[in-house]
Amino acid sequence: MTDSSDNAHDAPSASAAPKRRVVVIVGRPNVGKSAIFNRIAGKRIAIVHDESGVTRDRLMAEATWGQARFELVDTGGVSLLDRRKAQDAIAAGVRAQVDVALADAAVAILVVDGQAGRHPLDEAVAAIVHRSGVPCVIAVNKCDEPRHEAGIDEFSRFKLPFFPVAAMHDRGFAELMAAVMPHLPEAVNETAVHPLKVAIVGRPNAGKSSYINRLLKSERVIVSDVPGTTRDSISVPFSIGEGAQARHYTLIDTAGMRQVHKIDNAVERFSHFRAENSVAEADIVVLVMDSEMGPTVQDKHIAALIQEHRKGCVLVVNKWDLAQEKEITQTKAEPVLRAMMPFMNYCPLVFISAKTGYNVRRSVDVIDHVAAQTRLQMPTGMLNRALEEAVERVAPPMIDGKRFKLYYGVQTGVAPVSVRIFVNDPTRLAKAYCSYLERSLREKFGLEGAPLILQFRERVRPELHAGEAKRPTQSGGRHRKA
Ligand code: GDP
Repeated sequence: MTDSSDNAHDAPSASAAPKRRVVVIVGRPNVGKSAIFNRIAGKRIAIVHDESGVTRDRLMAEATWGQARFELVDTGGVSLLDRRKAQDAIAAGVRAQVDVALADAAVAILVVDGQAGRHPLDEAVAAIVHRSGVPCVIAVNKCDEPRHEAGIDEFSRFKLPFFPVAAMHDRGFAELMAAVMPHLPEAVNETAVHPLKVAIVGRPNAGKSSYINRLLKSERVIVSDVPGTTRDSISVPFSIGEGAQARHYTLIDTAGMRQVHKIDNAVERFSHFRAENSVAEADIVVLVMDSEMGPTVQDKHIAALIQEHRKGCVLVVNKWDLAQEKEITQTKAEPVLRAMMPFMNYCPLVFISAKTGYNVRRSVDVIDHVAAQTRLQMPTGMLNRALEEAVERVAPPMIDGKRFKLYYGVQTGVAPVSVRIFVNDPTRLAKAYCSYLERSLREKFGLEGAPLILQFRERVRPELHAGEAKRPTQSGGRHRKA
């Protein structure tokens, strides 16, 4: 890597990054955060991180309230605030998740327990939110009946708007959300200008055409009458929802794929270049596999192609109805499938049935989620804290008696998310350590389905504070001069 364009001025800055439409739920344990999360997210939970095994402690959903779409994040218990647990690494991890979530959020909902009354930990959580500068609204939960509202004025001490709610009984949410929603930045309908280009790929007979047909016929999906034609591929524009909130998509080369297999079913005649073209053109690639066959050699080739082209990816396991008949569970099947293509472990896996329609709409939510992840902006300070923590946990190995040293990192791009990391000597970077750093960043930031490019650049050892050289800087001043 010899190009000299390694100035950091193209890095997104934490303060300048526009807030996304993210609502984050915070609060001490046992106040009912998850019940509130489920009540607001309804049935539209797209990604449960715990399930996908990618990230712990953070739950995220694509939610809608009225017509408005936003992302909802549950931060898990802020139990670290308990002083006795302050040294606990897991607790510190949860705290880090709260910080990450707040950095990204436009508004926070602080959940407290109306029946238990004010708790010192409520104040501690409120202080964290306050420090982050994120606007906050209090949900006084467990106000199941009007009599529970009698004492809630004690929450006025927080000097934040507060609303009695009961997650279990669906009480008070209209008022709460009416206070939350105005804090969200105006929805920019990116997809109205640039429809999300989705390629559906997979081996013949995996069920691509059936999936597409089912998708295009599902409720609220509007298919444009005139299919667009680009070069030799055919694309199908469609949208979900109406008006300003509608999401627009273009399915790439689907008809082409269909023809290929109608003409000739032979696996070896599968048109590799056609798949490659559609992958290259796409923003997000959906790799459809057959649950009966698992990932085949051909699926793995296509997966490698998706990685080569650095595209966002969703893994879809079709014909799940057949597995259900055999009483195979997703919990059992997922680890087996993952073990067969471990290099795709960062991609969400959705079990669908094109035949029954099972999870077909959910797969679109996951596509949306991955699309958002490929455009994730990691605030510089947080990125460096994550790198610093990774180095503290596992020191880089010695190579030829010398140690690889990491100074700091900056994000230089999205889609794919690219990070430039300044080090003492890139040639001393072990491959395993590079993978470890990638995993650490994924643990912290999610990045489900999104490729992550780490570039290592040599940087002379900073002259001042030579003893602290491993400490990544957050000032931005030093690297801008370079
Ligand atoms: P393509 O070559 O990937 O486009 O595959 P097709 O959509 O043509 O499907 C191949 C075969 O699998 C057809 O016989 C479909 O009826 C069948 N199929 C597709 N999806 C499902 C499904 O979800 N469940 C079951 N049981 N069969 C399916």
